[in-house]
Amino acid sequence: MSATQGEPDDEPNDGHLATKWLGQDAVTSVHPQAQSPLFRLPPEMRRLIFLIALAETNVDTKPYVPGISESHFNDVSLEQMKDIYTRRLRHRMFDLECPAWLRPGSVCPQTIPLDLLVTCKRVYNETHRLIPYIKIHKFYLVHGPGATSKSSRGPKPALQYIPPPGVEVRNLHLLTQLRYFRYSRLSLQHQLAKVASDIEHLQLTLRPLSAIVPGRWITLFHEPFLVNPYTLSSTSLEDMEFTRKRMARGETLQIATDGWAGAFLDFPALRTLTMEFDHNELQQENLERLAQWSRQWRLPLPGNRVLVSETPPSMRTWRGMRTHDDWNCHVCGKPFPQPRTQCENCQWRARGRGPRMITWTVTWVARKSEP
Ligand SMILES: [Zn+2]
Repeated sequence: MSATQGEPDDEPNDGHLATKWLGQDAVTSVHPQAQSPLFRLPPEMRRLIFLIALAETNVDTKPYVPGISESHFNDVSLEQMKDIYTRRLRHRMFDLECPAWLRPGSVCPQTIPLDLLVTCKRVYNETHRLIPYIKIHKFYLVHGPGATSKSSRGPKPALQYIPPPGVEVRNLHLLTQLRYFRYSRLSLQHQLAKVASDIEHLQLTLRPLSAIVPGRWITLFHEPFLVNPYTLSSTSLEDMEFTRKRMARGETLQIATDGWAGAFLDFPALRTLTMEFDHNELQQENLERLAQWSRQWRLPLPGNRVLVSETPPSMRTWRGMRTHDDWNCHVCGKPFPQPRTQCENCQWRARGRGPRMITWTVTWVARKSEP
């Protein structure tokens, strides 16, 4: 989500940021700070500066799994990989200290540095109500911090998102499992019921983790990425391809609103939806086809509105861990890499790493439904 999403209405044009939307906690009698170049800028410029200054940052000192940071996932070459296959590392990469929900952006908590707010009363007035528009609340469904290892820190896993007391939740990032997600509207309805009426920007990350056994080394990276908003029952690659071709021929298909794709009808304030599809390189082609096809999905919203995708999807790659692979090497079939292996995938495994991971990102915006 971009920093420009903080958009309180009713902007006055007297050079001050709007105060109408300030709560009673605003300081009403303040020095105008006319000597400050910051306050001689147009208010929209100043807001942009504040939004950048107040962007969320990683709390690197509190990693969810000690030793695992963002750089762990850099998509580097084998030659650049310094790690070697030590007993400790081998143990680590095979056991639960490296759970499969770890991914870029999910290695530690994030926070908004609030020091700026105490520098000046006028700065405080103009910024403190921006915070709910900047803060992206994260909800890890079952597989997440605190769920899979004694050494991983963070909140305990949950089946429903409970917002912190007194906090407005405008932006929510739900990291969920493909299997939990794709069958029913009720799942998402229940998981986000406490905040559904307030959310304006929803981000969903779907990945093929186990549906049944949290805290165990079980993933579903051997399965293709299957999701289809036009079918209620389970889908298949053939079924997705069939649906895609019918749409390409110009057929108008109905979204299965009892399925997950109808869940957005419960989000009256929703303005954007972002979906991330995570899988490993074995599914590269299927994932790209899915991302391109998903741009044609028109997901219904309440109030005669619909979510449409108006921008091309984007793709990024990152280096996964052993848990993002099958137990046996998917290329040569061996469970453990041999010291002088010719298999490139096993050379990665020997360094404690897994396959290259692919993330496709697709964004939808709310629009009036065409008659
Ligand atoms: Zn191999």
